[in-house]
Amino acid sequence: MTEPLIKDYSSPGRKGYSLPELDVPDSGLDEFLNSEFIRESPAALPEVSEVDVVRHYTALSQENYGVDSGIYPLGSCTMKYNPKINEDIARLEKLIRLHPYQDEELIQGSLEILYELKEYLAEISGMDEITLQPASGAHGELTGMMIIKKYFEEKGEERTRVIVPDSAHGTNPASAAMAGFEVIEIASNEKGMIDLDNLREAVDERVAALMLTNPNTLGIFEEDILEIASIIHQAGGLLYYDGANMNAIMGYVRPGDMNFDVLHFNLHKTFSTPHGGGGPGSGPVGVKKFLAPYLPRPVLKKEGDFYYWDYDRPHSIGKVHAFYGNYAVMLKAYSYIRALGARGLKEATENAVLNANYMKARLKEVYELPYEENSLHEFVLSGSRQKEKGASTLNIAKRLLDYGQYAPTIYFPLVVKEALMIEPTETENISTLDKFVETMINISREIEEEPDLVKNAPHNTTVRKLDEVKAARNPDLRW
Ligand SMILES: *Cc1c(COP(=O)(O)O)cnc(C)c1O
Repeated sequence: MTEPLIKDYSSPGRKGYSLPELDVPDSGLDEFLNSEFIRESPAALPEVSEVDVVRHYTALSQENYGVDSGIYPLGSCTMKYNPKINEDIARLEKLIRLHPYQDEELIQGSLEILYELKEYLAEISGMDEITLQPASGAHGELTGMMIIKKYFEEKGEERTRVIVPDSAHGTNPASAAMAGFEVIEIASNEKGMIDLDNLREAVDERVAALMLTNPNTLGIFEEDILEIASIIHQAGGLLYYDGANMNAIMGYVRPGDMNFDVLHFNLHKTFSTPHGGGGPGSGPVGVKKFLAPYLPRPVLKKEGDFYYWDYDRPHSIGKVHAFYGNYAVMLKAYSYIRALGARGLKEATENAVLNANYMKARLKEVYELPYEENSLHEFVLSGSRQKEKGASTLNIAKRLLDYGQYAPTIYFPLVVKEALMIEPTETENISTLDKFVETMINISREIEEEPDLVKNAPHNTTVRKLDEVKAARNPDLRW
């Protein structure tokens, strides 16, 4: 990196503030703190001016790439452009200066927003009750799995297994395992969908649930979804919907109508919160009525015109987050949903699907398309042809960075060799899509003509090819 560390700007006595002379007695810290808590020498913090700090962080931000810089076609992640109005709403003084333990009478407006958000999410998903507590998709999955576990425990049924297709997102098996279930993986068929015979074989009285996303991680809609649901339900199991792909179906079909019993949303994906740097996120969970008693405590309720938190939930799995969840992300999602309205959400889906299919149609001329099925908001290519000519999918991803474009998700889902998983989202226009497609085609041509150029990419970025194994195995965390 060309930008030094902030400590390298440090110079003794430099500071970013100027305060008036102290006009009260200087009483020292020992009046307030036990001496064992007081440092003997000052902390070794960088001493820098305000302008040093601003320039340093501005420089760092420019060495990175984000949704505000250009297309970010990271499959499965729904990196859409996030309208800035959402940020304004989430920063309104009247909303953010509240304390979560304030009396309900004093925060009725805020509770009303959360209540309406729950109602919108219930309507969009076809579920009966929603909790806003979980902080991410994976956290929502864990919450959902805990709900399913508790449900069967109280019913007195010992169900220990959760079925997960081999195309699933890695968080699915992880969440099921964390909740104490045994994970049973089933292989997809040649169309990239759940193989009904494999499913029937895996289902018995030990199965608590099937975890599924639809469209699945190949972007393909499971056409047998009602049959799949009935196979699971007939065996007494439940259906969990991974809502990360909601951007492909919003306003068209609802997981509740596909007979799913529990689902999570990724508000930070579908409903437009900047994400990717590790959060904050929000992963509300929706359930059908019979599972509502198990939701995390407290549940937001309305009686007449009064909103309140209901803590009297004897069957609840307990709390999964401090207070009520990540409030600011909920505000952004609320603002986004209100701004788009029902028609706008439907159009978002429509354009997300149109954009992905446009790119797929152009790119399959050059890159292998392993699953020909109709796909929705994302699609998966394989870089196998290019690999044979000397450059792998990883190399292609790095070469894209040289052209100032962000790479798609690579090597996922695992069922596709040399996978390139592309999700353009609805917020990109046709010129941006064309530019990305043409860059991908150009890179493929480069591989034929000069494979080493692509193999040694990136050449133009501030940081060149990283030793990723070393970074993971032997991280240098000193500063
Ligand atoms: C992103 C994603 C998740 C996990 O969501 P997080 O909010 O990142 O925890 C789960 N499943 C799928 C299909 C996803 O794309």
